[in-house]
Amino acid sequence: MAIQPRFSDEYNKKSQDILETSLNSLSAYQSWRAFDPGAEYPIDRRYAAMPALTKNDIRQHFPQGFVPADRDIEKGLASGEINFVKTSGTSDAFRVTNIWNQSWWDASEEASWELNSHAAQVATGSHAEAILVNARNVGIISDEADLPFEKRRLGRFLYLNEKTDPTKWTPQFMDRMISELDIFKPAVLEANPSFLAKLCRYIYANDKTVFQPGMIVFTYEYPSKIHFRQVNRVFTNPAVSSYGSTETGYVFMQCEAGKLHQNSKSCRVDFQPLKKEHGGPNTGRMLVTTFNNPWYYMLRFDVGDFARLDEEQKCACGRDSGFIVSAIEGRWTNVTLTCDGRLVTLYRLDKAISQLQDIDEYRLEQLSLGTYTLYLVSRRGDRNNLEKEAVTILRSVYGNKAKISIEYPEFLAPEDSGKYCLAKALFPLKIEDYLDIKQVSR
Ligand SMILES: [Zn+2]
Repeated sequence: MAIQPRFSDEYNKKSQDILETSLNSLSAYQSWRAFDPGAEYPIDRRYAAMPALTKNDIRQHFPQGFVPADRDIEKGLASGEINFVKTSGTSDAFRVTNIWNQSWWDASEEASWELNSHAAQVATGSHAEAILVNARNVGIISDEADLPFEKRRLGRFLYLNEKTDPTKWTPQFMDRMISELDIFKPAVLEANPSFLAKLCRYIYANDKTVFQPGMIVFTYEYPSKIHFRQVNRVFTNPAVSSYGSTETGYVFMQCEAGKLHQNSKSCRVDFQPLKKEHGGPNTGRMLVTTFNNPWYYMLRFDVGDFARLDEEQKCACGRDSGFIVSAIEGRWTNVTLTCDGRLVTLYRLDKAISQLQDIDEYRLEQLSLGTYTLYLVSRRGDRNNLEKEAVTILRSVYGNKAKISIEYPEFLAPEDSGKYCLAKALFPLKIEDYLDIKQVSR
């Protein structure tokens, strides 16, 4: 049965307005006009006929190509209404400059809180929020000297970490985080899951007590089940996933019942399924169109992640507007292939590896078709058993012929992007080979 999400009339109207403004008056989308079947066609059909917007397109048309002519970029910059922000990335292919509109961003975030009853309760817009992420991504970098508390305060926010490499955190540095949580008493702790998991391993191993924020929001990187487990041993209040990007704002929020809901007040999502043999049709990539941002028109931006649609498009929480997603399946750049060339999403790999007990961190690298190296950080002494378990688990995912070697580094460090990489293929893959683009889900 085809998956049938529900959308409001307002959503469809916004979709149409954004599409028409973009095609008719923005130079970035001028060449897209040729794809438009015409205004007499249903809006979803028109969107489905359009290409995807890539970071390369942004670089090519930035900034004027995305801003309507009645907006003066120089004036916007001078008044502080907008500014330009650079995203971090592992290479030039991932780095891009975007137009940042703070009030639009705040509205998008606020709309996402309605999608989780805990967030709706504790997040007021003026609540205290602690942020534990890589300083390379957000906050102020200071790798040499430690910055005092006041230097890491900004409005209602506290940045708990000013370092770019968490493997250099000392016990004293983590004790500082624990004591600052106690002083600051944040309603929300927003965290990069791998960073918070590291702090939680320290708290757990040393039997420390820590202030309990009203909720924890995971963002920035894929939350491994292993990270969830480590965090849940220490923090007792709800930990939920929030999904978005610099370009698109807040796109999905996990509700109190565990599924993810589209932030359909703030954005449109188009879904492109994977081919059946690669996990489709319910798993596919997401293209995001932003609403309500007069300064920056993002149309069908490829956020680079896969999602798995909920088959029933129903949730115990009762929310029913927009796509309901069972899981974010991880980034395209983190997929690997089975021995016979079938795609394995990070979600599937992570679910399998998380069966291993007492693992601090992991990273899987695929060297070629059928050859894999698994890096495990673990304090388990029974290496022979651990190795047997890991090989059995990986063969269940990749096939019986998989050649697997296991290595035990002392620790794993984040990539240049500031984020941890859980899995990657060390050879080029083309996403188009795996997508079933002819099929339109809506
Ligand atoms: Zn729900």
